[in-house]
Amino acid sequence: MIRKHDRVLIVGGGPVGSVAGFLLARAGIPVTILERADDIVLDYRASTIQPPTLDLLEECGAAQAMVDMGLICPLMQYRDRQQGKIVEFDMGALRNDTRHPYRLQCEQFKLVGWLYPELRKIPGVELLLGHDVTEVTVTDDEVTVEAMTKAGPKTFKGDFVIAGDGGRSLTRKAMGIEFGGYTYPEHFLVAGTRYDFKAHMDDICSVNYTADPDAWYVLLEIPDMWRIVAPVDPAVEPDEAMQESYLQNCLQNLQPRPEPYEIVVKAIYRVSQRVADRYRQGRAFLAGDAAHINNPLGGLGLNGGVHDAVSLTNRLARVWHGAASESELDGYEPQRRPEAVSAILSQTARNKKLLEERDPTVRARNLDEWRRLGASPEATYKHLLETSMIASLRRSGMLR
Ligand SMILES: Cc1cc2nc3c(=O)[nH]c(=O)nc-3n(C[C@H](O)[C@H](O)[C@H](O)COP(=O)(O)OP(=O)(O)OC[C@H]3O[C@@H](n4cnc5c(N)ncnc54)[C@H](O)[C@@H]3O)c2cc1C
Repeated sequence: MIRKHDRVLIVGGGPVGSVAGFLLARAGIPVTILERADDIVLDYRASTIQPPTLDLLEECGAAQAMVDMGLICPLMQYRDRQQGKIVEFDMGALRNDTRHPYRLQCEQFKLVGWLYPELRKIPGVELLLGHDVTEVTVTDDEVTVEAMTKAGPKTFKGDFVIAGDGGRSLTRKAMGIEFGGYTYPEHFLVAGTRYDFKAHMDDICSVNYTADPDAWYVLLEIPDMWRIVAPVDPAVEPDEAMQESYLQNCLQNLQPRPEPYEIVVKAIYRVSQRVADRYRQGRAFLAGDAAHINNPLGGLGLNGGVHDAVSLTNRLARVWHGAASESELDGYEPQRRPEAVSAILSQTARNKKLLEERDPTVRARNLDEWRRLGASPEATYKHLLETSMIASLRRSGMLR
């Protein structure tokens, strides 16, 4: 393998770029991570970490760090706004399949916040914040990345580049890779409050998916607050949805109370279902949201991105250290892309359809389906294997 620069470049120091950099650095590979932001971005997107993601990140210490910062949630409910709890799943049923039989609620910025100082401790790591990548080029024997910094433009050379630069990935565009799919017309609103819903709502648990034809919602307990994810009518402008009155309405509609809610976190996101046509262009590889984006219903996107990072960095490390030929890298896309399509995009699209279904007959049928699922330990177990992504990682050969 031609190695002119003895370094891998990573565009984007979000959760996926940082995990990839950390795993490479621990494998003795010098890395340069170029991140546009000047500091850790307080990103209110991912909080759900799935069991096998923790299994995969156990050896490097990140799993324990997240468990220490997060909230362990073994229970998950599917609910209906009118009928209440329909089914409750106990992820303890997965105890023979994972060392972490629960969902962990730990926000993505906490993972990044743990990784940055760890990265800085490893010799050979350059973690460069305030570096906005403007160009990526790949030739047969090297990669070149141009970045704009406060001190002016800078050029970086490496042997490979990993695109961890998110859904709007400049790297993906520079490689001319198509990102087919669709964007939902409605935005997704995230609101966080310290109000203790468990103390006031009958029989909920920490993870609740609630179906409703007009206003479905997800209610999650995270370490120091509750988080609500809800759709915004496409007729409402995103700015309007971020106003206090709109947010209060949304929460009062969920659980009426005489006082206003204290809203400590708010954010709004445009959401798409897309997957890159290719995950590789010569010495450039896509991972995480740069390769696939999806709605948050199921808590799968970031998890899938971390699985990409694990697959890719294992392969790169084997090639780098001469334990495998370069053809090892050809296996990355076939291992990961089918799972983005079948485990992530199709599952999240189906979850959204189930929650928002308007046809009363179909809704009733869906709820019956959930009840049947809950009544059969065998069906529950199969469902949990799929929704926790254990099945996906087994299909792709990443877990036994
Ligand atoms: C409301 C919501 C809730 C979600 N909840 C979950 C969940 O619970 N569980 C889950 O698994 N997933 C969830 N997701 C998805 C999850 O947030 C993403 O999959 C995850 O953030 C992807 O990580 P990433 O590192 O690939 O990309 P990003 O998090 O987008 O990070 C990309 C990084 O690259 C940097 N960057 C971009 N362009 C450049 C450039 N040109 N130069 C330098 N740096 C650049 C950015 O600043 C950023 O730091 C959710 C999504 C939404 C919208």
